[in-house]
Amino acid sequence: AKTQQRAGHFYFSRSMGVEIRERVRMMHALRTGFSQNQLFVVYQPQVDLSTRKPMGAEALLRWQTPDGKFVSPDRFIPIAEYSGLIIDLGEWVMRTSMQELVALRAAGHTGFTMSINVSQVQFRHPHFMETLRNALHDTGAPPEYVELEITESMAMEEPDMLIKMLAQIKQTGVTIAIDDFGTGFSSLSYLQRLQIDRLKIDRAFVTEITNSARGSSIAEMVVQLGRNLGLAVIAEGVEDERQAQILQNLGCPLGQGFLFARPMTGEALLGWLSDDALA
Ligand code: C2E
Ligand code: CA
Ligand code: CA
Ligand code: CA
Repeated sequence: AKTQQRAGHFYFSRSMGVEIRERVRMMHALRTGFSQNQLFVVYQPQVDLSTRKPMGAEALLRWQTPDGKFVSPDRFIPIAEYSGLIIDLGEWVMRTSMQELVALRAAGHTGFTMSINVSQVQFRHPHFMETLRNALHDTGAPPEYVELEITESMAMEEPDMLIKMLAQIKQTGVTIAIDDFGTGFSSLSYLQRLQIDRLKIDRAFVTEITNSARGSSIAEMVVQLGRNLGLAVIAEGVEDERQAQILQNLGCPLGQGFLFARPMTGEALLGWLSDDALA
């Protein structure tokens, strides 16, 4: 038994070693990749569910390594957070997508909003507000058309700090969405204390809508919650017409997902928007 234990332990630490080495390797590759412009931002449109009119877009990071392969943000964002690179990377995403918003406005799309994901590491950084204000100032992006997405899990930690931060963000005119909503356990009374503007129904609950008889109950609950709190609601991950129909019937005003458009480069977005105007 002793030998087996030791063997088990050896195996465990070796696989840990591989994992850590892989993480360190990716950390270096990401740092190099960022400085060599391997990262770029794509934009996924958000539409009015009843008219299908584009209302805004979410900025999403992409990393294409020199061998042509894409690394998923679900893999490299945690590494960027762990290494601290997310501070520079997040600021760059903020500035890039604000510049894109300004370019869209110059092309006549003045009602369009830009949603930017913010990591909890960025959010907790002492210079976050300064970074946000400088980005708004330098790019000339109108704050009321900029939205920051923070996840529901982030919203659950350190309520007092969060409430203070949200009040400061609110002062700039920038709006706030709670992303992946429905996956945490925020209570109504807690949500009421937060200065937020929008709830974003997590994709998992949108997928569920067409999966079972009671599949739409969580989506329905979030729409109701939004109505009671006077918040806008958007559904993410809308992939088919039936989901869009059911969401619309539930009273969800906005949607985002492959059914409407995939994330695309800024240039492609401009084209997509002008096609729409002609239609
Ligand atoms: P998220 O914020 O929940 O973003 C939505 C994800 O769903 C995106 O994945 C998007 O491409 C994908 N998606 C959109 N519509 C559909 C659909 O109809 N079906 C399916 N199956 N998927 C859909 P992506 O781009 O791979 O990003 C994954 C996650 O990485 C994001 O989840 C977000 O948490 C994080 N992320 C991406 N960009 C950034 C960033 O700039 N900063 C930070 N902090 N996190 C980011
Ligand atoms: Ca998001
Ligand atoms: Ca989300
Ligand atoms: Ca998600």
